[in-house]
Order: sequence, then structure tokens, then C-alpha cells
Amino acid sequence: MNRRLSLYARPAVPPGADPQPDKIPGGGKPIGLYLHVPFCDGKCPYCDFYSIRATEERMEEYTNRMVEQLGYAAKRIKRPADTLYFGGGTPSLLGEKRIIRIVEAARQGFGLEHAEITVEANPGEELSGLFREIRAAGVNRLSLGLQSAEDGELRLLGRRHTAQQAARCIGAAQKAGFENLSLDLMLAIQGQTEKSLRRSVEFCARAGAQHVSAYLLQVEPGTAYYKRKETLDLPDEEKAAALYLLACKELEENGFFQYEISNFARTGFESRHNLKYWHDEEYLGLGPAAHSFLNGKRFSWGKSIGAFQRGDPPVPEGDGGGFEEFAMLALRLTEGLTDARCLERFGQPVPRRLKDAARLYERGGLTVCGADGFRFTPKGFLVSDCLTAEILYAR
Ligand code: SF4
Repeated sequence: MNRRLSLYARPAVPPGADPQPDKIPGGGKPIGLYLHVPFCDGKCPYCDFYSIRATEERMEEYTNRMVEQLGYAAKRIKRPADTLYFGGGTPSLLGEKRIIRIVEAARQGFGLEHAEITVEANPGEELSGLFREIRAAGVNRLSLGLQSAEDGELRLLGRRHTAQQAARCIGAAQKAGFENLSLDLMLAIQGQTEKSLRRSVEFCARAGAQHVSAYLLQVEPGTAYYKRKETLDLPDEEKAAALYLLACKELEENGFFQYEISNFARTGFESRHNLKYWHDEEYLGLGPAAHSFLNGKRFSWGKSIGAFQRGDPPVPEGDGGGFEEFAMLALRLTEGLTDARCLERFGQPVPRRLKDAARLYERGGLTVCGADGFRFTPKGFLVSDCLTAEILYAR
């Protein structure tokens, strides 16, 4: 539903910069599993994720294929997984029986010992029964697409739920035993003010969420929003930046600590699955439009349910796991780029050249530098793509 990897579009990266001795991660560490469930009951006008209308027949075929794919992948990869993430689309539309079948297939193939198992859901549905069943089957984290706690904003976003329905859905999840709940919020949407954003953050805190993902709305080509972008009354860049900084501050004040550009959690509730992406660790994605990083290679599956059902092979996307990629991902985290993680991965601390370059931005409040590395501040995150490139390719 919401996994934007950057606040603003990533700029072209100068080629060939900063070669480092690369060490591909792995060494038998458990991988993450991401399953893309491409079904929705309508298309939100801002959404550019691959999704199609849910029908019983399609979801049944998809489930059969996914169970098969998991078995096949497990035999080839022979590695355990310690996170499983059902993303979409709207995975909850599959219903409890199909979700449990898939969880069982993943458990059989990949162990899932002490795994974080997340399912995304839309808060407008009546999901009490589903929550009870999947909780009993081992799903232990839910990610709900709240987006806003203001009905007017939800209407303008084209969402199909109200704040009251969302509150009921969260209550049902808690009653079913979920103690790890993540809510998505969207920033810089039509009609959003500082006051309304504060109310949405307070809603998340009052509702008892442990995690909040707060993303700036981007108008992506191919979406309904894009087609009528001239008629949208969206906050300008300056206002959007102010809303982002306000969200960071309000979320912290409500006990959600920022650990990534767009992600905030109560202590100990950071998403273990998403941390694998940002730590540049390995994961297998299955399903249409899913991406993978395994054995030093990146590859993805076509955005087509037909290709998935036919068993078409994934598309190679080249090598992954090099220092540049590792550093870019690390700088999305509030932990930043540290000697400890570089030593563990590359046998070398953060290059001096990068530390020196990061210091140039400290006075402007964009970075925080220490002897053992550096990180971006929320203000730095707002320009993180440019800032990352400036530091990585400084000479
Ligand atoms: S429910 Fe989520 S995935 Fe489906 S169209 Fe809306 S934003 Fe996109």
C-alpha cells in the first residue's frame, strides 16, 4: 500500500563513484519474505502500485500459485526466513483461509521461527473474524492503511473508509490479540493543515498503535491524480516540507521515535522486515511486481497476474549489495552510516572522505556527525537524495 522509498525522486547517480571492497551479505542469515498480493476493491486515485480488482476465482488461482511458488523457492534457496510480509494491494481481501494456507506453506518451506509476520489491511472492512483466525495462525503484526483520521481528507483521497470505521477496525485487531499495529499516514494531502495533521497523529497514539509510517503524497504518472493534477489543490513544496517536519515532531512527542525517513515506532516495534531492506540484507519477493535481493543479485517479477500464474521467470536487475547501495540505504535510517555496520559488512570503517563531506552540512542542521559515523536530521531527510549524492561523490 505504501512503501515509497524516497521523499522526492532519486536523482541520477554519477556512475563509478567510490569503489569499495564489496562483501555480499548472506552467510546463512535468515532472509525476509515479501509476498505481493495485487487485489483491491477499487483503485485509489493517487496509487501507482500494481493492483487489480479482486474476484474469488483470481484470488483462488493466486493462492494456489503462491503456495506452489513458495515450495519451489524453498527447495532452491534452502535458507530460513525470519520475516514474512503480505503487502499489496489489499492482502486482507484474500480472507483468512487463503492467508493461513500461504502462511503454512511459507512455514513449511522457510521455517519462520520467531518470525515477524505482517499482513496489510484496509481499515474500512469488517475484519474481526479474519483478525482472530490469522492471529491464531501466527500472524503477529498488522499494517492498516489509515492515511488520515479526518473524514474530509479521506474523501478527497478517494479512500473508502471513515475515521470511525478505522477506530473500530483497530479495536477489533486489538481484541483479536494484535499487540503490534502499524498505521499509515499520508502527508501533504489536499486540505491538510497543521491542526488536522496533529489530530491524525493524536488519533494514532490514542488508538494504541505501536508504529506509524508517514509518507508524503507524490503524484505519480499513470494515476488518476496525475491526469487531473492541475485541478488538485495540494500543498506546495514548502508547505509539504513543513508538514513533514511537523509530523516528525508530533510523532516523537506522542512516543513514536523516528528510525527511518518515513517510519516511526515505539521502542522495540521497528519493522523487522523493512529494516532488512534498509540494512541491505537479503529478501525474496514473490508475486506480481515483487522485488528480490538474493545472493548478490537483484531481480523482480513482472507487473502482471497472468505472468505470475504462467510462472514466467523474474527479470534480472543486476548486482546488489555494493558499498554505494549499502550507504544510500543506511542513510535513510536515523542510525545513519556507522563504522560498526561498515566494519561488519566490508571490513572497513566509514571512509574518512565521507565523514569529512558530511561535516560540511552539520552547521546547516542537515547532518549530525560523530567520530564513528554520521546521520541525517529530519531537515536533512527532506533533501536526502541530493544530500546522499553530494556526500557519496564528494572529492
Ligand atoms: S487500497 Fe492501497 S494498494 Fe489498493 S489502490 Fe488503494 S492505495 Fe493502492
